[in-house]
Amino acid sequence: MLLPRLREEVLEANLELVRRGLVLYTFGNASGISREDSLVVIKPSGVPYEQMKPEHLVVTDLDGKIVEGDLRPSSDLPTHLVLYRASSEIGGVAHTHSEYATSWAQARRSIPCFGTTHADYFHGPVPVTDSMSENEIASEYEKNTGHVIVRAFEKIGFASVPAVLVANHGPFAWGADPAAKPAGGKLHDKHYLRKHGSNAYYGQAKETK
Ligand SMILES: [Zn+2]
Repeated sequence: MLLPRLREEVLEANLELVRRGLVLYTFGNASGISREDSLVVIKPSGVPYEQMKPEHLVVTDLDGKIVEGDLRPSSDLPTHLVLYRASSEIGGVAHTHSEYATSWAQARRSIPCFGTTHADYFHGPVPVTDSMSENEIASEYEKNTGHVIVRAFEKIGFASVPAVLVANHGPFAWGADPAAKPAGGKLHDKHYLRKHGSNAYYGQAKETK
């Protein structure tokens, strides 16, 4: 079986979305990429989370051709692939219809940085994409969803703002791996570094015995 470790990571990322209450029904998917092999591992379409095993995940190339797997990949695969092609800093992608983020997406409002937790993860507002045109929706909808995201990031780094709201739809998020660990780069500002790295001072000092 190809990429056993990445399969485990992607499965875990999918299950974590459910455990955190971010997925309603089966509306969610996570994937990961092996840059070395140029292969993507993604959730299969329509398999109940509680029955999902590493071997159910689907391995594709960056064109979406299935390299290993008997099941159909998540229908959002083309969106994930556009993101992987757009930035080599992206190692994992997740999409949900989580209630709060989807409310903002459907209101077509970007999320301003009003709070410190937001600043821990995002170097600025979480942007909202333009609405998609009728043509973009009518054909290759999922691929065009990727393109509308990339357009929203013409002046924003994927590493410094690791999520987007797709207008009228919901959030996509990404990171250096499927667990969506921050990709670094411009995130290294004061607020971010206080919780991460050797000079972090957030939390309790280590106990000395
Ligand atoms: Zn969706």
